[in-house]
Amino acid sequence: MDEKREECGVVAVISKNKKPVAPLVYRGMVGVQHRGQDAAGMVLYDGSFYKKKGMGLVSEVIGDVDLSQPHWAGIAHTRYPTTATATIKDVQPSVSGSLAVAHNGHIANYWELRKELEEKKYVFEGTVDSEVILYLLTERLREGASIKEAVLSAMEKLDGAYSVVGIYDRKLFVFRDPHGIRPLVYGENEGNFVFCSESTSLDMNGVPYGGSVGPGELIIIDENGERKDGALLDKGARHCMFEYVYFSRPDSIINGRLVEHVRKELGRQLAEESAVEADLVIPVPDTARSAALGFAQATGIEYTEGIIKNRYVGRTFIMPDQESRIRAVRMKINPIKKVIEGKRIVVFDDSIVRGTTIKEVISMLRACKPKEIHLRITCPPIMSPCFYGVDMPTFEELIANNKSVGEIEKYLGVDSLHYISLGGLKKVVGEKSCFACVTGEYLTPAAAKEAKERRNRNGSHKC
Ligand code: 5GP
Ligand code: MG
Repeated sequence: MDEKREECGVVAVISKNKKPVAPLVYRGMVGVQHRGQDAAGMVLYDGSFYKKKGMGLVSEVIGDVDLSQPHWAGIAHTRYPTTATATIKDVQPSVSGSLAVAHNGHIANYWELRKELEEKKYVFEGTVDSEVILYLLTERLREGASIKEAVLSAMEKLDGAYSVVGIYDRKLFVFRDPHGIRPLVYGENEGNFVFCSESTSLDMNGVPYGGSVGPGELIIIDENGERKDGALLDKGARHCMFEYVYFSRPDSIINGRLVEHVRKELGRQLAEESAVEADLVIPVPDTARSAALGFAQATGIEYTEGIIKNRYVGRTFIMPDQESRIRAVRMKINPIKKVIEGKRIVVFDDSIVRGTTIKEVISMLRACKPKEIHLRITCPPIMSPCFYGVDMPTFEELIANNKSVGEIEKYLGVDSLHYISLGGLKKVVGEKSCFACVTGEYLTPAAAKEAKERRNRNGSHKC
């Protein structure tokens, strides 16, 4: 089965004054660049579509010609890099006739729905989930259904996480899956309505944060700025906790909460659960910074930068094999020996997935001769893959599936290792979150079925 993972970022803008939106869309895309750096796509609209897609960063794909387009509505997407062979065919937004959509998330029953649609003669260009959404909507719209009716039918069929932005019939529409797993926020000013994965895209445009699209909610804005909204299928909020732990920017407001604050609280929670006598608190940059600061404030231990990240080295997580990941980590991260030598240090990281990154980090830190290394992780052990859009490898690759916490502590060679407890995480991010990757309890039937099948295939593992 093809492994397309869809973390990604989406943006949508409509101007009721019919002002050009291309610059707003572009800046919005830059605001969610961290959610996907491998490809970018923008579709503008003024009765007909203008499309621009390509592999690379937003600034490499979108040029002056695109930005000078006069269209008054647009949607866009930044794609997360995957290990699967990705081609331009898989770059969103997807367009069919007078409908365009882009989404962030992952459809767990993609292949089942695709098969049904192919039997109805729908032709798939690539293997991205957005095409399934596109055709599910197209099918009902062609029958004369309204956007609302079409979206409700699609929601009833789709299993998984999806935050969708679309354009149809001179209207912009957005909707979020019934659990609101992946984020989607909005804001409005000067007649522009902006929707985006993270509020950083609003900030880039000087648009004040207006709120979050609710679970199962559909919002439609027509060309005159008339807004219709409401939940079509609300199954109760279960926001992805990993957005807070790792994925979102710290300056984002996700589901009404500033990520920076949440991360600091994770650090404070860890101070409660696993305080230790030490001289310095050092984060693995960048994600663990805020949590390390929270821990330092709560314990009174000095916070310092002791590991420097080279921002010009790309993502190491997605490299295809272990050896290249290790080499890349060593290029990307450099500990400061003079800071670390002879000290008892508390090292913070957001999560351990395969264990590759932290293993290398710890061995580099050891070479700096600290007196003690205490490792603190702001996410409980990751035991199960994610079928809702976060890149979590297979059961077999997850280190916590093969080793106990004590074994991982030994394997890493640290003086102590503490993961935040599930209870502690819940206290900070709220019960109404998705914890499937740490509990193995999936929210939806297709994801649960997929997990069960994979577990059966790898019967020897603990989970
Ligand atoms: P590991 O080396 O244990 O497999 O990776 C864990 C680290 O990779 C985490 O600390 C996290 O910061 C980072 N990371 C980078 N990209 C991703 C991603 O797409 N998904 C996940 N799960 N972690 C990622
Ligand atoms: Mg990291």
